[in-house]
Amino acid sequence: MPSLPPIDRAGFPILERRIGKGEGRPLVYLDSAATALVPERVVRAVERFYATSCANIHRGAHALAEEATDAYECAREDVARFFGVQDAGRVVLTHGATESMHLAAFGWAEHALAPGDVVAVAEDNHHANVVCWHQLARRRGVEVAWIPVDGQGRLDYAAWCAVAERGPKLVALAHQSNVLGFRQPALARIMDDARGVGACIVLDGAQAAGHEPFAFDEARVDFYALSAHKMMGLTGIGALLCSECAFARMEPVVGGGGMVERVDREGFVPAPGPAAYEAGTPAIAAAVAWREALALLGEAGLDRIAAHTRALATRAAQELRDVPGVTVLGDASLPCESLASFVVDGVHPHDVGRLLDAEGVAARAGHHCAQPLHRALGAAASVRASFAGYSCEEDVDALVAAVALMADAAGGGKRTGTRAMARQERTQP
Ligand code: PMP
Repeated sequence: MPSLPPIDRAGFPILERRIGKGEGRPLVYLDSAATALVPERVVRAVERFYATSCANIHRGAHALAEEATDAYECAREDVARFFGVQDAGRVVLTHGATESMHLAAFGWAEHALAPGDVVAVAEDNHHANVVCWHQLARRRGVEVAWIPVDGQGRLDYAAWCAVAERGPKLVALAHQSNVLGFRQPALARIMDDARGVGACIVLDGAQAAGHEPFAFDEARVDFYALSAHKMMGLTGIGALLCSECAFARMEPVVGGGGMVERVDREGFVPAPGPAAYEAGTPAIAAAVAWREALALLGEAGLDRIAAHTRALATRAAQELRDVPGVTVLGDASLPCESLASFVVDGVHPHDVGRLLDAEGVAARAGHHCAQPLHRALGAAASVRASFAGYSCEEDVDALVAAVALMADAAGGGKRTGTRAMARQERTQP
């Protein structure tokens, strides 16, 4: 049965654009994993804020400053409610998932961990959940131990068990990979084991947040990182959700205005609560926008959104797999949650991206900031099609038709095989 978008496409004027060859193709936006489209009502909320309440927060006694402060703090509360965090004081507003993971690394791990401690890092992570641990290894002398993926992209549970025996102090995992569409079958078990050995769990929620229901407090992880722009908000804001126990041991990373209770010649006392980690002027209008995006997602229903994107992404993956010369990355037996990545025999992913663009299909090509994962899968790069609550069946049709045409033209009866192409890629610097 066709899956109808749970989010009304009429709320996205950008979808009326025509692009591609001669600007003659309707826009097929399949890059929501990079950034989701912003609904008109979110744009209106930003306009209203600037038209009526534009001011900096926390520092003024005037009405506009109070309104702006109120709006910003209400965003924190809305995020807490949306993600099942009982106390909004454990929601740190950041500039996005990257900064959130950085804060977990340098606001918590840098002083909570000791030289020689093991930090387990999953190989399907985005660089945002890899590089900060490498940095921590340099700065604090911790040891990064990998939880590898197998050839199908599945986290290797046996390899994790060997790491777990070494008593890791922190485990960095992706709730949802931004390259592999499926949910890691071993994720829940790995998190259970991590709790069992008393490790801090840092879960990257950038790709799962706003796509499916998630209750942070119930999930029993220590840190959850997310970005508003992946959930129909604006760029420049995100959050780090913290467990009570992790939050209690954090220290400020960035110092400056807004994060102190008192400063004198001798030193400073950090402000209580999340403000201690939010130095400087935050993205106030983006916080206002995020509230509106959360309201829209809530009205559409996260269960419906999850079912819809799963149906579209799984169908896309299946139909792409049926195209001769196309390889979809990852285990074919698992459903895709909201995206699928693929390679086309004999055509570089960047060329695939450009050819799709000419057909009006906006997809992303490259390593998607997941080089370790691509390496493990034997590919230097891939093309990613990603879906959101406003995506439709016709988007899948357009993608598959355009890829089939291209694969056919590239094949010319003498395909060399994606593995050969991947090997060729690996020999390049
Ligand atoms: N993690 C994952 C899984 C992502 O897909 C992204 C965005 N590509 C990030 C982290 C980083 O998010 P941001 O760029 O918004 O900080």
